Amino acid sequence: MRKSIKTQVLVVGGGPVGSVAAAYLAQHGIDVVLAEGGDQAAIDLRASTFHPPTLEMLDELGITGHLMDNGLKAPVYHWRDRKSGDVLPFDLTEIADMTKYPYRLQCEQYYLAHGLAKKLESEARAEVLFNHRLVHFMQDANGVTAELEGPNEIIEVKADYIIGADGASSTVRKWLGVDFEGFTYPERFLCLSTAQEVREEIPDLSLVNYISDPDEWLVLLRVPKFWRVLVPAQEESEEELLSDKKKNRVFGGFLKDGETVETVHRTIYRVHQRVAGRFRVGRAMLVGDAAHMNNPLGGFGMNSGIHDAMNLCKKLVKVIDGADEKLLDLYDRQRRTVTHQFTQQQTIENMELMRGGQSEAHRKRRARMNALLEDDMARRAFLMKQAMYTSLADAAAIS
Ligand SMILES: Cc1cc2nc3c(=O)[nH]c(=O)nc-3n(C[C@H](O)[C@H](O)[C@H](O)COP(=O)(O)OP(=O)(O)OC[C@H]3O[C@@H](n4cnc5c(N)ncnc54)[C@H](O)[C@@H]3O)c2cc1C
Repeated sequence: MRKSIKTQVLVVGGGPVGSVAAAYLAQHGIDVVLAEGGDQAAIDLRASTFHPPTLEMLDELGITGHLMDNGLKAPVYHWRDRKSGDVLPFDLTEIADMTKYPYRLQCEQYYLAHGLAKKLESEARAEVLFNHRLVHFMQDANGVTAELEGPNEIIEVKADYIIGADGASSTVRKWLGVDFEGFTYPERFLCLSTAQEVREEIPDLSLVNYISDPDEWLVLLRVPKFWRVLVPAQEESEEELLSDKKKNRVFGGFLKDGETVETVHRTIYRVHQRVAGRFRVGRAMLVGDAAHMNNPLGGFGMNSGIHDAMNLCKKLVKVIDGADEKLLDLYDRQRRTVTHQFTQQQTIENMELMRGGQSEAHRKRRARMNALLEDDMARRAFLMKQAMYTSLADAAAIS
């Protein structure tokens, strides 16, 4: 017989964003089912940076300590120029009056998703269904009916609301028929990781380094066990990109001998700048990568998804408690506006800065960055913007 369950909110996708949404709702007395297609959130080389306001939000869920235990504090990050050798350091302790977390926490995103899934399993109000993929849902004025495909059964879920946190290829978004406009970068991103300590050769590296170069820009990030290197990949085939020859060339670009470097992971990503046309349709809401995608330069994708989840769930708790459903439209307006005005704009700008080049526009961009070091007020504004405080304040100001 087909199994049927009832809940107040069905959250689809147990990545970092869906698990935050489910944890917040359960903590606030809402019955929630979290359905994740995989047997756990993927252990992959994606988000590694948590910004200060995100750490403050996650404190509310009692999970920041777990991330601290598995992460590294990076108070200073560098914008570097490969050709000139210029190093522009940005120090988050300059905004320590704003936060008890004046640093970027370098910790892989799966620690968040796995940590919250574990917490949820002990919550009476929550049910976590791994290996259960949403295949279909529909909604009417009274609620949502969804079908989850498990290894041995189809489960029907009847819920009051559904949250699509099911990533870039969101099934929720597709069933809603919501467009996902934007563009895909022609270059792919190659991400390599190594346990080798690259600071033995480059001792002044920060834990987070954005290194611009018109020929091959580079991001060099430290997570507790590895250095991660991110470079653009142009026309090469997948086989060439994953080859030792490519690895030797990438590491040989900044270390004496790339051949001796051993990698732990090699992954290729396609990168998109896209925003869903709507974040709310009736009883269905989109959050995280299901709602928007951007390049990883600046570390905004997961962080902004967590900001979506917290913004939405605070409103949804009130709506379930009897407040007007119009609050859910406010979620759409607030988060969709800052996605366009901040996340999309800033990541596109960061990509241009990394690509470098001889153009006048690039010269001006560099000059603006250099000027920040001499101007305390402008530098503080830059740090607040990059730490995502400004986008949160901008969202809160939208009514
Ligand atoms: C190289 C790289 C580096 C990055 N670095 C950063 C960074 O430092 N900081 C930052 O903020 N962001 C970063 N990002 C972006 C970040 O990884 C994403 O924004 C983040 O993973 C989005 O989280 P999510 O929970 O919305 O989606 P996902 O992490 O994609 O999770 C979606 C989940 O939904 C599940 N799912 C999908 N379909 C279904 C279905 N039909 N039914 C049930 N479950 C389903 C999937 O299995 C998955 O577990 C980076 C991205 C890349 C590629």
